[in-house]
Amino acid sequence: MDVQMWVNFGLFLVLLGTFVYIFASSVITGLHKMYLSVHSFMMLWPLFQFAMRQTDDPQFQLLYLTAAFVGIALLGAFWYIFTICLVGESYLLKTRNLIVIFLPAAITAAGLICNPNELFFQYIGHDTGDADVSFWYRPGPLLIYMPVLLAGYFAVSIYAMVSTLRRDASPRHRRLVVTALYGMLLLTGFGLADFAAAMFFHQAQSVLSAGLALAGIYYALAVTRYSAFDIINIAQRDVIDTMSTGLLVLDEHNVVIEMNKALRSILPVNIGDKFDLRALSSLSSSSRTQMEAFFSMLRKHAMATASVEIATAGSRHYELHSTPILNHRNTLIGRVITFQDVTEYRRLMEEMNDQNAVLQERNRELILMQDQLFQANQKLERMAVTDALTGCFNRRYLLQQLEREVVTNVRYRIPFAMFLFDIDLFKMINDSYGHLVGDEVLRSTADIVRRTIRRTDILARYGGEEFAVYLPYTTSAQAVRLAERVKAAVEHNAVGAGGEDQLVSVTISMGVLCIRSAEDARPGVALDDAKDFLLGLFAQADAALYEAKNKGRNCIVVKDIA
Ligand code: GH3
Ligand code: MG
Ligand code: MG
Repeated sequence: MDVQMWVNFGLFLVLLGTFVYIFASSVITGLHKMYLSVHSFMMLWPLFQFAMRQTDDPQFQLLYLTAAFVGIALLGAFWYIFTICLVGESYLLKTRNLIVIFLPAAITAAGLICNPNELFFQYIGHDTGDADVSFWYRPGPLLIYMPVLLAGYFAVSIYAMVSTLRRDASPRHRRLVVTALYGMLLLTGFGLADFAAAMFFHQAQSVLSAGLALAGIYYALAVTRYSAFDIINIAQRDVIDTMSTGLLVLDEHNVVIEMNKALRSILPVNIGDKFDLRALSSLSSSSRTQMEAFFSMLRKHAMATASVEIATAGSRHYELHSTPILNHRNTLIGRVITFQDVTEYRRLMEEMNDQNAVLQERNRELILMQDQLFQANQKLERMAVTDALTGCFNRRYLLQQLEREVVTNVRYRIPFAMFLFDIDLFKMINDSYGHLVGDEVLRSTADIVRRTIRRTDILARYGGEEFAVYLPYTTSAQAVRLAERVKAAVEHNAVGAGGEDQLVSVTISMGVLCIRSAEDARPGVALDDAKDFLLGLFAQADAALYEAKNKGRNCIVVKDIA
């Protein structure tokens, strides 16, 4: 029995099986199609090696042997095209370039088919005498061209791959290229070994078939287990890796099953690690209670989403969101934790808060200043209407008030009264006790008068030791009564005169003006000139006061005005 025949057939079946496996289990992309083409050419060698041994007809045997050689020659070209697609430069595959790529393979294939003067190989047929040592052909001088051709294709492929690895390729793309590179090196090793066996030992030991089958298995694994050629997966991977948000996917036992590039700079974890949530707390310098709340949320309410903000030792802030992954039966099968860098946001927030605090402080200062200003204004207003020495209203204020009041009183026939009083012989007080005592007498007199009159009456210092009182809504009788009371109060008021138990009292002379605003006098008409009217009133009050002085002082002269 020809062992090599069945070995080759078995290896062919392996390659066929892996072909079907890849085809059935992957989403077929352009890259898959390219690889499957290469894979088909890989299948040709063991197939024809098998077929060759299946027949006793030398013509068929020669045909299959030639076909196997041609398949290998073309494999190199297909491999190079696959590499170009793999490194993402398929745009280079224009007709002209394709012709250039296939030309050496085509020439070799033509040479092998024609085999002029048996320059490539000399077919000698199967030596049925010894099943283990098979001399199917003797290599001709040009057969060396075969490994050179393959080495050439492999060299340009390796060059394309290595230059891709040197470029700034994404990690996933690098892995893809490296995977292909390993498979190719495997294939090259077996190919060289096979050719060495053929050239130097004149043996066809199915080494190349074995290499092809191994490479086939290797690629099938790479394609299906690790989705090596799955460009959709690669694209998704690239998207995940270019995200600035750290991504961590845990299974239900908290084993890391997926993570992205951004996470690597945040947490030192690897896929397959058992992830301890507590590792996060070592990261965090933010609120301990917040972290605890986050963890207990994850433990007790695993189905709920939870978030927390952490701050790393490098003073970066991350917002963590944990979302459960549920299967179709709504049971928890894992968890996605995202780490969003919110450092810049935090910084801006803090800056804003600081600015806010400054603003608030300014505002407080402004409010304080406003208050002080308001108080100062009030004081100024008070000062503008009061007399500094006695604290009564001043003459200007009194006149201002009266100008308004008088008009109203006359218009509505409201009776009112005015006092004008002057301290008697005040000069003598000054002369006898000094100005300070005089001032005290003025102050004290004003106080006692203010306490005697009603709250609605207005007391004003009219001149040096002369005061005026406006009494609204006051009849003549009330005015006289009040005048008497004021005069008596002043008279009984004793002021300290500096020395021990030395008291001084003064009397006043007063002119009282009672304005009835009687109907017959001014029948409810408005005053044309309130100022003039007032001046008239004061002149009359002054006259009454003068009269009182003339009468011998300490008395009241009352004048009624209709
Ligand atoms: P008569 O009874 O006629 O009013 O006599 P008199 O001395 O009060 O009259 P006179 O008008 O001559 O004197 C008023 C005095 O009042 C003169 C002035 O020095 C004094 N005087 C005016 N204002 C003040 C003041 O604010 N303080 C003090 N101590 N004296 C003042
Ligand atoms: Mg006087
Ligand atoms: Mg006077």
